[in-house]
Amino acid sequence: MAAFLAIQDVVKDFSGVKAVNHVSLDIERGEIFALLGSSGCGKTTLLRMLAGFETPSSGRIVLDGQDLATMEPYSRPINMMFQSYALFPHLTVEDNIAFGLKREGLPREQIRQRVEDMLRLVQLGKFAQRKPHQLSGGQQQRVALARSLAKRPQLLLLDEPLGALDKKLREETQIELKRIVADVGVTCVMVTHDQEEAMTMASRIAVMSEGRILQVGAPAEVYETPATRFVADFIGNVNLMDGTLAVDESDHCVIDCPDCRHYVGHGITGTQGMPVAVALRPEKIHLQRHAPAHEGEFNRAQGTVKALSYFGSFTVYHLALASGATLKITAPNTQRHRDDELQVGDTAWAHWARNAHVVLTQ
Ligand code: ATP
Repeated sequence: MAAFLAIQDVVKDFSGVKAVNHVSLDIERGEIFALLGSSGCGKTTLLRMLAGFETPSSGRIVLDGQDLATMEPYSRPINMMFQSYALFPHLTVEDNIAFGLKREGLPREQIRQRVEDMLRLVQLGKFAQRKPHQLSGGQQQRVALARSLAKRPQLLLLDEPLGALDKKLREETQIELKRIVADVGVTCVMVTHDQEEAMTMASRIAVMSEGRILQVGAPAEVYETPATRFVADFIGNVNLMDGTLAVDESDHCVIDCPDCRHYVGHGITGTQGMPVAVALRPEKIHLQRHAPAHEGEFNRAQGTVKALSYFGSFTVYHLALASGATLKITAPNTQRHRDDELQVGDTAWAHWARNAHVVLTQ
């Protein structure tokens, strides 16, 4: 069956610059789907094409079986919430939410009911008569969301929805926004450059770079099995080690890097001697004072603690290796042995399991 929202080989060319370069995506009904990438990767242009503010140079966008090219932007069952919220400063919360409904000419009683429902949904009933400047950033964000949802769009587009909030409020609002979107059951496409935001909110993420989609997957999938170096590096922290493929069997492979030999618990079907990169997440590495007993010569590296940062629930260690490379290691502080803590300048061993690696060939 065709996807609820099908983006088919879409290109957007701005005088020779392909801001969006042959992008295809299938988004299912009820999903929160995140377009994630750094500045200039084309995510906003893609969102604007969904909204109808830009027209694709080629390709098709089909929503619930209907080609969007055949619909005027204002008649699309789509609403976009901007980062700035774009609330009307002179209107009350209630009137801000009602604005689009009045323009549509809905009967008064129906508008009143919808506004009431929306205020309840975003838990702002008490604030109905306030003006936007009398609200906190998080409350303004919820009014903007209520206004976007009041028209009951089939597709909600969120452009950096929480960019204006500080970190703590952003985290709370992410959860809240997710709940509201799930309650309403609307399909949602959001644009963000913040990978934590994408991971927290989205059911699936598309990682974009230079107008192209590099990988699509659930947050855990993209984090645990990144397809390329760029994705591994963009999502979360990672240690990337360059090496060569020394042994490749069906159930394991060995990769030689300047500081260590990796024994990886799966094969990669490559040719011996080919250059590869090993990605190791900092939390998958253990750090200890003494040489580890396991795996013989494999999956271990000795170094000197160059720096450490204490974050409360965990500590990040920077281990300087013989080649000059640095290994980042995240250690949970659940069971700290205070009398045996590693300090800057100490020699230590890093080691990791045979299923900790992701081997990257591109
Ligand atoms: P940001 O996070 O900074 O908003 P983005 O990933 O959303 O970045 P876009 O705004 O989609 O990126 O821009 C993608 C590319 O297209 C950029 O190189 C940008 O300069 C270019 N671009 C965007 N809009 C236009 C336009 N109207 N005319 C010409 N070039 C444009």
